[in-house]
Amino acid sequence: MEIKLKCIECGRIYEEEKKRVFCDCGGLLQLEFNPIFDIEKIRKKDKSLWRYRDLIPLKRDENIVSLKEGFTPLIGKKIDGFEIFLKLDFIFPTGSFKDRGATVLISKIKELGINRIVEDSSGNAGAAISAYSTITDIDCDIFVPDNASPNKIKQIEFYGANVHKISGSRENVFDEAKKFSKNFYYASHFINPYFFHGTKTVIFEIYEDFNCSLPETIILPVGSGSSILGIYIGLSDLKRSNLIEKFPKLIGVQSENCAPIYSAFVKKEYDIPKIEKKYTIAEGVSIQNPLRGKEILKAIYETNGDVITVSDEEILLSQKELAKSGIFVEPTSAVSFAGVKKYINSLKEDERIVAILTGSGLKSL
Ligand SMILES: [Zn+2]
Repeated sequence: MEIKLKCIECGRIYEEEKKRVFCDCGGLLQLEFNPIFDIEKIRKKDKSLWRYRDLIPLKRDENIVSLKEGFTPLIGKKIDGFEIFLKLDFIFPTGSFKDRGATVLISKIKELGINRIVEDSSGNAGAAISAYSTITDIDCDIFVPDNASPNKIKQIEFYGANVHKISGSRENVFDEAKKFSKNFYYASHFINPYFFHGTKTVIFEIYEDFNCSLPETIILPVGSGSSILGIYIGLSDLKRSNLIEKFPKLIGVQSENCAPIYSAFVKKEYDIPKIEKKYTIAEGVSIQNPLRGKEILKAIYETNGDVITVSDEEILLSQKELAKSGIFVEPTSAVSFAGVKKYINSLKEDERIVAILTGSGLKSL
C-alpha cells in the first residue's frame, strides 16, 4: 500500500513520517492513496469498521488499535408523514462518531512509532483520542475550552490524558495546542488527514445498509468538517471503485449563532468570511474559523448540497423530540434533526434522506 501526503495549497508531496502534519508552506495535507471497495471481500469480514481495512491507510495489521467499533444502527422514523432514516452514529465506545477517526489515526500513530501526541477539542474528539491512546500506551495531552461540558472533560481525564483547560475562544485553544505540538505529534481531528479516513467509513456502512446503493440526501452537523469531509472522501472511494455515479446531496447544518460555512455558502464563495460568534448549546459545531472550510464548501457545492442554520430553541426541541423516540443525543447532534425538520417540506418524492446523529446525550448533561 503506497500512501503519500499532499499539500492542498501548493501540491507538494511528502512521504509518511513521524513529524509531518503540515506542509512546509503551512498548508494542510491530504492523503494520496487510491483504495478500491470490494464488496465481496468486505462481506466476509467482521461487522466493525475495520472490515473496510483495504480502504484504510495503514500498512501493517499488527498496528490496528480497535475496540470493534462501527456498524452503528440505521433506523427509520416518521416526520410529518415522511419516512426518514437516522444513523445512530453515537453508539461507540466513547459515545461519539469520533471513534471512527480515532481508531484509524491512533493505529497510524502506533505504526509511525510515535509515543506522545497532542489534540484540541471541545470534548468528543478529545475523549476518543485519549481512549485509543491509553489502549496502546501513547501519552496524550488534550487541550479543551474551559467552558466545555464538564462531563466531556471528566471523561477525557478518566482515560488518563493530561487535560489543559484554556480560557477564551475555541481558536485560543487551537493556538495553544498548536504551540505545544511543536515538540509532539499533532493528532488533530480536523487537521490530521488520517482522521478523515476513519470518519469516511460511515458512508460505507450506509452503502451496505441500502443494499449497495445510497440515499439521495445526507444531512449532518457541520463545524470543523471531520464528518462531512470523511464522507466526501468515502464517496470518492466508492466512485473510484465504479460503484456509484452520483454523490448524494450533502446538507450541512450549523447553529445560527456560529455559521461561517453558511455565510460563505449563501454568497457562493469558497473563502470563509470573518463572522461574529455567539454562544450556542451546540458546542461541537461552534467553530468560527474552520481551517478546512474551503474543502467543506467544495464537498457541498460538488454534491449540489445545501447549508441550513438552526436556532438553539430548534435544537432543544429536536433533542426532546428524539428523546420521545428513545434516542438521547447531545445538542450538537440534535442539530442534524433540527435541519431535517426545516428541510422536510422541500423533500422530493422518492428522495431518501439519512440524518447522522453524532454524539450521545450523556455527554452534555
Ligand atoms: Zn504546501
